[in-house]
Amino acid sequence: MKITATDPISDTCKAELQKICDFTDLSEVPKEELPTKLSDFEAIIVRSKTKATKELIDSAPNLKAIIRGGVGIDNIDSEHCKSKNIKVLNTPEAPSLAVAELAVSLMLSMLRNVPRGDATTKDNQWLKKELKGRELSGKTVGVVGFGRIGYEVGKFLTAFNCNILVVDPFANERLIQAINGKKVELNELLQKSDIITFHVPLLDSTRGMIGADQFSKMKNGVLLVNTSRGPVIDEKALCSALKSNKVAMAALDVYWDRTPEKSCIMEHKDKLILTPHIGSATYESQDRIGEEIVELVKKLK
Ligand code: NAD
Repeated sequence: MKITATDPISDTCKAELQKICDFTDLSEVPKEELPTKLSDFEAIIVRSKTKATKELIDSAPNLKAIIRGGVGIDNIDSEHCKSKNIKVLNTPEAPSLAVAELAVSLMLSMLRNVPRGDATTKDNQWLKKELKGRELSGKTVGVVGFGRIGYEVGKFLTAFNCNILVVDPFANERLIQAINGKKVELNELLQKSDIITFHVPLLDSTRGMIGADQFSKMKNGVLLVNTSRGPVIDEKALCSALKSNKVAMAALDVYWDRTPEKSCIMEHKDKLILTPHIGSATYESQDRIGEEIVELVKKLK
C-alpha cells in the first residue's frame, strides 16, 4: 500500500511504516504543493497542520483512508470523505495524559504566578511579596467535556482535593463517581467554578459555547484553561472578560487561527499564559501516537 505522511511523525513510526508499506515522507513539502504530489497514495497520515480540504482530498483519487495522528479531526473534511467512502481514522487514546498534565500544570502556573516569577527573577527583580499565589487544593474546578482527557484531568485533580464539577451530556456516570465529581448543567458550573478547563471537541454545538452571556455568569476573577480548540470560546468575549477582570487569567494552548499573533488577546499578555499547541507534544505521547498509527495501517492492508 502506498502511504504518505504530510505532517511530521516520529522516527520510530516512520521506520515501522517502511517495514509494512510503501511509505513516503512528504512532511517537508510546502502545503500549497501537496495537491500535486498525492495522486498515487492510498492513505495519508496527517497531524493538525495539514488541512484535508475537499480540494486536497480530490487530488488523491486512490485515497482509501486519512489517518489523523492525534484526536481532533476538525482539520479533515469528514463529510467529503464519507461521500467518497474514504475512512477517517485517529489515535484517540495516545495524547490524553500529555494534554491532561499540561492542563493541570497551566492551572498551577496561573495560581502561583510561575511565568511572572520566572521572568522578573531573571530580570533581577525580587517580587517575593507581590507574587503571593493561591493553592489548587480545595478549589472548585469546572471540567467542560469529560471524555478521555477530561477524565484524566479529573483524576489528577482528586490528588489536590478539588471540588470537581462536570459538564458533559454524554459523560460516563461511573467515571464521574470515580473522581468524586458532580455532574451539573453549564450554568451551575459557570457560577461555582474558581477554575474552568475545556476538553470538548470542536463541533457546531461547541463552537462559541462560551460567549458574553456565559462569561457574565462566571465568578469574578475566574481562571480559564483551554487546551481543546480555540473557537470553543468566543474570541471577542474572552478579550472583554480579560479587560474587565472577570477573567483574572487564561492559559491557552489553542487559538482561533493557528497562532494568536493577530488576536485581541495579545492586548492582555500579562493575564495570559500561552503555549504553541503543545498539548500532545511529549516524547511519550508521540511514541504512543506512532504505535497507534502503525496498528491502524496494519488493519488497512
Ligand atoms: P473525547 O471525545 O474523549 O471527549 C470529549 C467529550 O466532550 C465527550 O465526552 C463528549 O461527550 C463531550 N462533549 C461534546 N459536546 C459537549 C458539550 N456541548 N458540552 C460538554 N461536553 C461535550 O475527546 P478527548 O480525547 O478528551 O479530546 C478532547 C478534545 O481535546 C479533542 O477533540 C481535541 O480538540 C482536543 N485536543 C487537544 C490537544 C492539544 O494538543 N491541545 C491534543 C489532543 C486533543
